[in-house]
Amino acid sequence: SAKIEMCFNNSLMEAITLVRHAFSLEHAAIVTDLDDRMPIIYGDPEKLKQVWINLLSNARDAMGWQGGTLLVRSRLFVADQKVTAWFADTGPGIPPENCSRIFDPFFTTKPVGQGTGLGLSVSFGIIQDHGGSISVQSPVPQGFFDNVDTGGAPGPGAVFIVDLPLEHEET
Ligand code: ADP
Ligand code: MG
Repeated sequence: SAKIEMCFNNSLMEAITLVRHAFSLEHAAIVTDLDDRMPIIYGDPEKLKQVWINLLSNARDAMGWQGGTLLVRSRLFVADQKVTAWFADTGPGIPPENCSRIFDPFFTTKPVGQGTGLGLSVSFGIIQDHGGSISVQSPVPQGFFDNVDTGGAPGPGAVFIVDLPLEHEET
């Protein structure tokens, strides 16, 4: 795929800008906590944006009409030569028996016609193609939302964790 040097945080912000209106319709808030060192990574901007949009849209769907907060956090790990992004929501979370299946193609818990079950499997492939990894934790670990205004009692929630190497050798 077409990989170039790109600013990781700008990529996240572009996706957030695209979904902001959909979030406000559901009374859901997006909060960002981005590493101000602005890591530069080698990646395909359109494909990575697609991943962020998938994760953001899933969080919005999960929080539904009750609303909630989605926290997007990024950190540069210089020693590991990687960046990590977390997408943590205050929604209902994911039951343990589903956590191992949500990355499978066509796995969806949404009503027929509302979910294809492809978002996470496509995202998994894109991240893998960048030499990175994507995983999920639910409930969100205690303390994750410390110093973040989640606007009331958060649900168990889910957090998707994306690791990307700063540079990736094409294979
Ligand atoms: P789709 O969105 O079409 O259902 P995905 O592959 O994007 O397909 O997601 C698969 C399933 O993973 C969803 O149907 C949902 O059950 C679960 N899921 C994904 N993100 C979340 C989240 N943030 N909170 C709760 N469940 C989620
Ligand atoms: Mg989806």
